[in-house]
Amino acid sequence: MRIDIATLFTEMCDSVLNESIVGRGIKNGFIEIYTHDIRKYTENKHRRVDDKPYGGGTGMVMQAQPIYDCIMDIISKHEKRPRIIYMSPQGETLTQDKVKELAKEDGLILLCGHYEGVDQRVLDELQCEELSVGDYVLTGGELPALIVADAVARLQKGVLPNEDAYSIESHYNGLLEHPQYTMPREWHGREVPEVLTTGDHRLISEWQHKAALRVTAEKRPDMHEVYMDRLLGEFWQGFLEEKGLDDDTECSEVFRFGRSEDESQRLLKLVLRGKKRASTSSYLAYEAEDDALPEKGSYSIITDWDGIPRCVVRVTKVKVIPFCEITQEQALREGEDKSLEEWQERHRDFFQMHGSMIGYRFTEDMPVVYEEFHLEYKR
Ligand code: SAM
Repeated sequence: MRIDIATLFTEMCDSVLNESIVGRGIKNGFIEIYTHDIRKYTENKHRRVDDKPYGGGTGMVMQAQPIYDCIMDIISKHEKRPRIIYMSPQGETLTQDKVKELAKEDGLILLCGHYEGVDQRVLDELQCEELSVGDYVLTGGELPALIVADAVARLQKGVLPNEDAYSIESHYNGLLEHPQYTMPREWHGREVPEVLTTGDHRLISEWQHKAALRVTAEKRPDMHEVYMDRLLGEFWQGFLEEKGLDDDTECSEVFRFGRSEDESQRLLKLVLRGKKRASTSSYLAYEAEDDALPEKGSYSIITDWDGIPRCVVRVTKVKVIPFCEITQEQALREGEDKSLEEWQERHRDFFQMHGSMIGYRFTEDMPVVYEEFHLEYKR
């Protein structure tokens, strides 16, 4: 890939581009980046490249002629006309998705403005795209162009040691990266998370994915929401395709079991192994929260504690009955207890605690919603 930067300050760009990872990438031939001095193309005998704005106002505007000639000269060095991008606070905001898109091009020309900006006619004539590095204004387009060049260069084969070096980083897959640790193992009384020292790659990558989800949920809830929607959408699509169901089949609920990570994990495992095939909840809680009762035939996605979809279940039976009328067979279908008595004891405790939280009182004849479900799909 070849990137050309058209600027009034080539030295400023070169000094950055010659350094570190990108500098090595250029030296080793994994990417070509050239800077071009727009001033060299001016036809003005005093080497001027700017003038006062029409209509008045402060500052100067970069003239069309030197920019046009500079860029036409750069184009002539490319086999195929490259995309021409004017770095501008008015442009589309740069994202990692945009970087990935640009990294696939054979060539890019980045035009750096200065002063009050650039004569609009040259942008129109060259059909420039506009790209911003954020909603703030800098004095020139050099720093933004260097940001684009750096972000695009590191995705070129050979610039980084391997694809892992960028593919698990923040933003690449829609998540922020998990926290990183290095030697020593203990510092100021703070330990590196145990799992990272086990050498078990499956456990480590599971931990890293969950940590990335949590970091993203905390720091960038907007990104987390988009990521989870995509994950759930892909999971649901996978289920519909495997079962040959219509695209408009509805998912009535997405939920997780339990009040803690351990409990959630334990119950999910029981469902995935086909041991847990029923659950019981308080009818009064449905009333208090104005929730619709589960419907026979409806599908739900069950997630793990972090919201990762793990299976789809379908409701096969729904009954509202008094707590004391739950039978041994029904209790055992929940897969958690060895006897009806054990089930009753556990549920009494739960309903007493739950009732005190949301405002109902447990009694032995309190109505409960007993539902049976069938495991339809798991991943
Ligand atoms: N008068 C322009 C406006 O209000 O849109 C701002 C001009 S700015 C002072 C000078 C140059 O810096 C621009 O031509 C552009 O190349 C660059 N620049 C400034 N902020 C930028 C940003 N957020 N993203 C990309 N380029 C920027």
